[in-house]
Amino acid sequence: MKIKQEDIFKRCKIVVFKLGSSLVYGEDGARTDWIDSLAEECKELISLGIKPVIVSSGAIALGRGILNLGNKPLSLAQKQAASAVGQVSLSSLFQTIFNIKKIKVAQVLLTRYTTDPKNKEGYQNAVNTMSVLLDMGVVPVINENDVVATEEIKFGDNDRLGAIVARMTGADILFLFSDIDGLYDKDPKTNKDAKFIPLITEITPEIEAMAESSKNPLASGGMVTKIMAGKMCLEAGCKMVIMHGKAQYPLARLSAGEKCTWFVPK
Ligand code: GLU
Repeated sequence: MKIKQEDIFKRCKIVVFKLGSSLVYGEDGARTDWIDSLAEECKELISLGIKPVIVSSGAIALGRGILNLGNKPLSLAQKQAASAVGQVSLSSLFQTIFNIKKIKVAQVLLTRYTTDPKNKEGYQNAVNTMSVLLDMGVVPVINENDVVATEEIKFGDNDRLGAIVARMTGADILFLFSDIDGLYDKDPKTNKDAKFIPLITEITPEIEAMAESSKNPLASGGMVTKIMAGKMCLEAGCKMVIMHGKAQYPLARLSAGEKCTWFVPK
């Protein structure tokens, strides 16, 4: 694996990777090989002086597995309980795999409150902690604190949390590793003529309308939250890319020209 630094990572200092649940947990359990490939790429970035930040979903999925809950519908409290169980495993997975490569990780659990600049103290504490972790060469592994996030206040998806973390850490690029290869003007699963959109430089009303009409049930987020994340990134002067994340070594694939959608501030 070799990342071609010159194109994507030129002048980059901090990058955020958002991992959907299906990347870290599959039918056969935790996807350790995939996480290992990401750790390898993080190691390469660190050697180039670039600091990675990870926003990972998967606590509920892992917890369902551990508690043998299958795919049955769960109440909010049951999901929170599954998350509480799964979050331990999620952090431990990252710790084990990254530590083998001599990379230290930290668990950071955020809430709406601690990611809202209006709540000065909570927000500033979260910003300061992440900044110190990055200065210390530690990779923050971030998720929503599902246990204290009630229905009305939870993000529920990590696309927007990824964009918020990108803003809080002053990141240059947010990578949304997803189960779709980018943005389409219609749901490509049900519309054969769906047109792929490789580049977005501003969120026009047409793009917003596209997201609203998309019925594509992508993870828990879908296109709406991805476009919302893109909007936040563009406003913060951060690039964002949506790409298929499931195969190993996502950054090397991206460098090799794999299909994706870029959001690039003007
Ligand atoms: N925070 C939740 C978890 O870790 C899920 C968020 C999402 O689906 O993106 O399971």
